Amino acid sequence: MAKPVILTVDDDPNVLSAVARDLRRRYAEQYRIVRADSGAAALEATRELRQRGEAVALFLADQRMPGMSGVEFLAQAMPIFPQARRALLTAYADTEAAIQAINSAAVHYYLLKPWDPPEEQLYPVLDDLLEEWQASHSPIFEGIRILGHRWSPEAHALKDFLARNHVPYLYFDLETDPQARELLEQYGQPAPTLPLVRLVDGRWLVAPTVAELADQAGLLRQAAQTHYDLAIVGGGPAGLAAAVYGASEGLRTVLIEREAPGGQAGTSSRIENYLGFPSGLSGGDLARRAVAQARRFGVEILSPVEVVGMRIDGPYRFLQLSDGSEISTFAVVVAVGLSYRKLDVPGIEQLTGAGVYYGASLTEALSCQAQPVFIVGAGNSAGQAAIYLAEYAERVIMLVRGDSLGAKMSQYLVDRIEASPHIEVRLNSTVHAVHGSAHVEAVTVRAPDGSEERCPAAALFIFTGAMPCTGWLTDIVQLDRQGFIPTGPQVFEDGRRPKGWDVDREPFLLESSVPGIFVVGDARAGSVKRVASAVGEGSIAVQFVHQHLARLR
Ligand SMILES: Cc1cc2nc3c(=O)[nH]c(=O)nc-3n(C[C@H](O)[C@H](O)[C@H](O)COP(=O)(O)OP(=O)(O)OC[C@H]3O[C@@H](n4cnc5c(N)ncnc54)[C@H](O)[C@@H]3O)c2cc1C
Repeated sequence: MAKPVILTVDDDPNVLSAVARDLRRRYAEQYRIVRADSGAAALEATRELRQRGEAVALFLADQRMPGMSGVEFLAQAMPIFPQARRALLTAYADTEAAIQAINSAAVHYYLLKPWDPPEEQLYPVLDDLLEEWQASHSPIFEGIRILGHRWSPEAHALKDFLARNHVPYLYFDLETDPQARELLEQYGQPAPTLPLVRLVDGRWLVAPTVAELADQAGLLRQAAQTHYDLAIVGGGPAGLAAAVYGASEGLRTVLIEREAPGGQAGTSSRIENYLGFPSGLSGGDLARRAVAQARRFGVEILSPVEVVGMRIDGPYRFLQLSDGSEISTFAVVVAVGLSYRKLDVPGIEQLTGAGVYYGASLTEALSCQAQPVFIVGAGNSAGQAAIYLAEYAERVIMLVRGDSLGAKMSQYLVDRIEASPHIEVRLNSTVHAVHGSAHVEAVTVRAPDGSEERCPAAALFIFTGAMPCTGWLTDIVQLDRQGFIPTGPQVFEDGRRPKGWDVDREPFLLESSVPGIFVVGDARAGSVKRVASAVGEGSIAVQFVHQHLARLR
């Protein structure tokens, strides 16, 4: 296989040779560095690479070039190599144009000239971009293969699980994919129960559960130790942040996640307001980076494993896990976040996973191609999903119970929805039934005047009110009426410390009504429901964990 290409373009010969020199120094072993002295020459080289079947990992273009600017070149190169990362080299005076380019030409990053020293100004950015490209690019596929029916909820569960855990897989749809038949023949037995999974080493799993597949895919489900300094429940942004800070500061740390690290944020198609990522980043990408960072510091991540209970014995907190085992720890960070409330309308239960999805199921976007889909909800998550799905579906219809889209949604999302010709917003409208035998075929929508209309639909994505995943903590810590967990000053009852409080200090800011049990992120009473605040709380909580542990010793 030819090495993937980094293509750099600049009309100034001095700058071009300096860029090429620095690129070769760092990347020549893994990538072929191709240079061009104008936008037109770069475009021609790009087309030739495509024709020869080579892969471009990164375009690095100077903005100021006569004839064709860097942004213009990147915009034209994008459809030829859509997965390639696109970076712009700009002078300080062109920063404004570069920021605009993030939107207009989907530029991933801009770098300022000069970039000395490259170890600080160039390589960290390019390393990141190339790592992202590698994560999305799979030249020869050597991962897990899943064979199933298009609308099978069981196949959906396996795909969704692997995608969210960043395990590469290919899906073969028996109805539409000719290769699916070949794979079935390789299995060799007639009419197996589906879905069928072929592992990397050639073994087969017949209709496995998510847990069985997790074991075979090499995910860790059993704790290596029986006792930890810190156990974190939930692997969303808050839990992952606590894990990174805990382990990097020397605590023996375990993180237990019942589905896949990333949490709600991991299902987001594009987080645009997280500091330091001016062109936004996908939730999957954020999760992948955070998991790599946590593992690097030695965090043990158990997934998929659910914490189902907790018992307290003196300074020890024992977490009870879904497989019946227990983990002991001195400090627990509860970072269990929220999950969507189930919608109770006729037809919905039997079609969940077969066209009805709670939250953004990005893996299913492709199967909605050129068909109408419905979204229920009007929060930011619903807005993001609408914009993402509009790239695939024929039409996205948002059903909003209230009389305005902007009541709960950020203005930048409202603006994009209003500008999209593929998204229709129906205010004061609700879904009243879902129809279909094997998968969703139609939904009944109730309009503001009470009339009902049966509309064809390929899928229904539900983003209605979410509730905290704290049922397992009832009777252990104080919960408020909605199930959120009060912390710090909120746990005082009539100005007195909570019942059973057995240490001689006040509860810390993020501590629940039980010493040593901390709460961060969306599940905390009064929390701000944002990625950045979840990350902030997860990081801060570790300071309180240290103080708690110091008093135990
Ligand atoms: C589609 C979507 C888009 C969003 N976009 C944005 C955005 O652009 N910007 C922004 O700032 N915010 C956004 N948000 C909100 C943001 O994602 C959340 O505020 C954030 O993820 C909260 O983090 P958390 O760690 O507290 O909880 P979560 O992300 O909810 O993570 C909690 C984790 O705990 C796990 N868990 C729960 N119970 C247990 C248990 N008993 N045992 C083990 N594990 C358990 C869950 O499986 C989950 O992985 C979005 C949310 C969604 C759904």
